[in-house]
Amino acid sequence: MTATVYHMDARAKRWSHVDSLPGKLERLLAEKANLKSVVKKGEPVAVKMHFGSQGAYMIIRPALVRRVVDAVRAAGGKPFVCDTVRIKGVDYLDVAAANGITPQSVNAPVVLADGLFGMDYVKVEAGPLMPFVPVASAIHDAPAMVVLTHCKGHVQAGYAGAVKNLAMGCVSGTVREKDLRGKVGRGGMHTMHKGQIRWTGEGCTFCNECVEACPLEALTCDEGKKAIVIDAQKCWSCCRCARICPTGAMKAPDVGEKFQDALSECAKGVLSTFEKERLLFLNFLLDIQPECDCMPAADVPVVQDMGILMSQDPCAVDLATCDLIEAADPLPGSAYTAEHRKAGLSAWEALHGRTGRRHVELLADFTGYEKAYEVVKLGNS
Ligand code: SF4
Ligand code: SF4
Repeated sequence: MTATVYHMDARAKRWSHVDSLPGKLERLLAEKANLKSVVKKGEPVAVKMHFGSQGAYMIIRPALVRRVVDAVRAAGGKPFVCDTVRIKGVDYLDVAAANGITPQSVNAPVVLADGLFGMDYVKVEAGPLMPFVPVASAIHDAPAMVVLTHCKGHVQAGYAGAVKNLAMGCVSGTVREKDLRGKVGRGGMHTMHKGQIRWTGEGCTFCNECVEACPLEALTCDEGKKAIVIDAQKCWSCCRCARICPTGAMKAPDVGEKFQDALSECAKGVLSTFEKERLLFLNFLLDIQPECDCMPAADVPVVQDMGILMSQDPCAVDLATCDLIEAADPLPGSAYTAEHRKAGLSAWEALHGRTGRRHVELLADFTGYEKAYEVVKLGNS
C-alpha cells in the first residue's frame, strides 16, 4: 500500500492571504484533512506540539497552531493543545507562554498531558526493550489526536519528526516506580539500561553550565570536593547536561541505535491507544535547525523552509520529510555546509552521523504503517 502525503510549500508567490502559509494551512485542513473522520462531535481532541525551551524558540508559530485548533473546532471537536513535562511543569507552562503558546493565542486550553508533575500516565504494553510505555494520560484518554511536529535534527535520533514526537513527546519523562526510573519513559529511552549519566571530572572547568541546565536541579557543584554531584533520585536521564557540557566531562551512556529502537517501541505504544482514522499528522518543515526544541538554544536553520506535509500515516509523513530535507542544499552560514554537501552527506548525516530513518522504518515494520508514499502537492492559488 502507498500512503498519501499532502504538501503545501512555504513560498508566497502572490501577496494574498490564500498564498500565505496560514492561508495555505487553512486550505489544506479544509480540503484534505478528512477532519470529519478524525473528529467526532463534542469529543476532546489532543493537539500535540512541543512548547520549546527558554532559548529554543523556533517552535511551531501560534498563528499556525491556531489554524489547526479552529479547524478541529469547526469539525465539531473540542481541541486542547498539549505537550508533556520537560522541565518542572509550572515552569514549562511559563516557557510555553513566553514562546507565544497561550489559551488566547491558540484559542484552546494549553495543558500538560502528563500533569503538572509529569507523573500522570497510563501504562501501555510495548516491548521488548521496555517493561511498559508510560503514555501521558490526557493523550491516552483522548479519542483523537492531531500531531503537530516541528521537524529538525536530533543528536541521538539524527532526525526528529512525527515519530519522535509520538515517542518522546507523548510519554512521561519518568515513572513512579523508583526501580524502573531510567528504564522506561523519556529518560529510559536516553539511557536504555546501560547505566546513568556520569560526571567523569576529566577536563571539567566547573563552568556550572550543566548545573544551570538541569531541569530538575539534580546537579550540584560541591566546591569543597571539586566535583559535580548527581542526585540519582531526582535525575530522569534526559541527558541535557551531557549534551551541553563543553568539555565532555559529563557523559551520557552511548546507547547507539538502541535509542531509535526505543523510540519506535514507544511510538508504537502511543499509537496503540488510538484508532488509525482518529489520528492526523502535520509536519512543519520550517526553521529546520540542527537540534531538539528542548535544548537551551536554537541554531539557524540548515536548509530552506519547505512548508507543511500532512498525512494520516506517521511513517509516510516522516519519510517524505526525510526525502525533502536530504535533497535540500545547505543554507549558507549554517552548521550544514557546502563541504558536507560535496562529500555527499545529507544534513543529519553531516551533523549527527545518521539519517534518522531507522526509528521511522522500524515503526512501519512493527505496525503496518507505510514506508511507501505518494505526494500530492497543493500549490499556490
Ligand atoms: S558543564 Fe561540563 S565542564 Fe561545565 S561544570 Fe558541568 S561537567 Fe564541568
Ligand atoms: S540527565 Fe542531567 S540534566 Fe537531565 S535530569 Fe539528569 S542530571 Fe539533570
